[in-house]
Amino acid sequence: MTATSPPWFTAGLPHVWLPYAQMKTDADPLPVVGTDGTRIILAGGRELVDGTASWWTACHGYNHPHIRAAVQRQLEAMPHVMFGGLAHEPALTLAARLCAMLGEGFERVFFSDSGSVAVEVAMKMAVQFWLNQGAAGRTRFLAFKGAYHGDTFATMAVCDPDEGMHSLFQGAIPQQVIAGLPRDDAGMAALDQILERHSGELAAIVVEPLVQGAGGMLFHDPETLRRLRAAADRHDLLLIFDEIFTGFGRTGTMFAFQQADARPDIVTLGKGLTGGTLPLAATVASGRVFDAFWSDDPGKALTHGPTYMANALACAAANASLDLFDSEPRLAQVSAIQQGLEAGLAPCRSLPGVRDVRVKGAIGVVELEAGADLNDLKRRLLAQDVWIRPFGRIIYLTPAFTISREDLDRLTAAIVRVLHEIAR
Ligand code: PMP
Repeated sequence: MTATSPPWFTAGLPHVWLPYAQMKTDADPLPVVGTDGTRIILAGGRELVDGTASWWTACHGYNHPHIRAAVQRQLEAMPHVMFGGLAHEPALTLAARLCAMLGEGFERVFFSDSGSVAVEVAMKMAVQFWLNQGAAGRTRFLAFKGAYHGDTFATMAVCDPDEGMHSLFQGAIPQQVIAGLPRDDAGMAALDQILERHSGELAAIVVEPLVQGAGGMLFHDPETLRRLRAAADRHDLLLIFDEIFTGFGRTGTMFAFQQADARPDIVTLGKGLTGGTLPLAATVASGRVFDAFWSDDPGKALTHGPTYMANALACAAANASLDLFDSEPRLAQVSAIQQGLEAGLAPCRSLPGVRDVRVKGAIGVVELEAGADLNDLKRRLLAQDVWIRPFGRIIYLTPAFTISREDLDRLTAAIVRVLHEIAR
């Protein structure tokens, strides 16, 4: 709390439960009253340059006029109707556009309201895909160390076992098969053995393509994805790509899998889908997956239906966000950001306490040696008037694609300066 805390802040703070926070010692959020482009405006008028795009969602910057106008128009016409038995233009247009963008083979979009649920739906689709074809017992998943797919029970089970919450919730979450990513031929041989051992009980392989995000901002190359596609085919498994972090330009192409020429059977989308304005996620199935549900038997239908699925306001925002990828040079901006991040973060390489510096698309990562004092880091970064939220040993930048070079340089310079301070 600060001297400029507004009354709503002091009155309301004792009644909210904050994400990933020890409420006794770690519940000190900043009162925000507005956003503008790549700035977060605090009560009292202080402005922070935003390095996170609000958990990687606000890819066009905040308050983009094209998205705002689309949402305002939709609000006048119809904010929401249930999607059971009713359909509307924003959702159907969006579904058709997403399938066209994802390319050949992608046929059906199931909408939901968060990334975790989109992954849950993908997992449910995969299990029922086999059940509907009479293959019982294929209920488990192979996922990877370093992965992050969400915070719900099914998705926690396919997160990294250490970074995720497997031991805390032991007994409450299903046991999945967790392996190392096949980064080379030896890794692939090891994975093949695991897949062999579990053949008959696995429904699918789940992976974040090219970048494992919240599990540690770890990168792998397109060849790894090609190996996984081949392995899924060899062992007769479905392949799920979770593009919730990587989708919509973040790694330099519209979708990360496009760099690998390896297509999944199911893809999940979220985060940047609405350009950071409204919650919306999607699970997109290939024709092969959908065909297993196409039947005269009602028992073979996909049994899922979130109350707010395909929310019309959110779909209008998403359509407007997709327009911007056509009308503004987003991928060129990502490529310029990549250069800016590489140049700006390079001085960190030689600093004590830094284990690695890596950049892919509009993602810049400084990985520290163990033992960094996270709260001290956060305080020092904030003192530079930047909004950067390190986690674990990771300081990362995932700015809006519209960020100016000047603001990007302020973000990278703030990290370099703080790491210098700490090194002293
Ligand atoms: N998958 C990935 C790859 C993610 O990065 C996230 C969110 N960080 C999720 C799933 C979960 O999304 P949500 O927080 O919207 O439930």
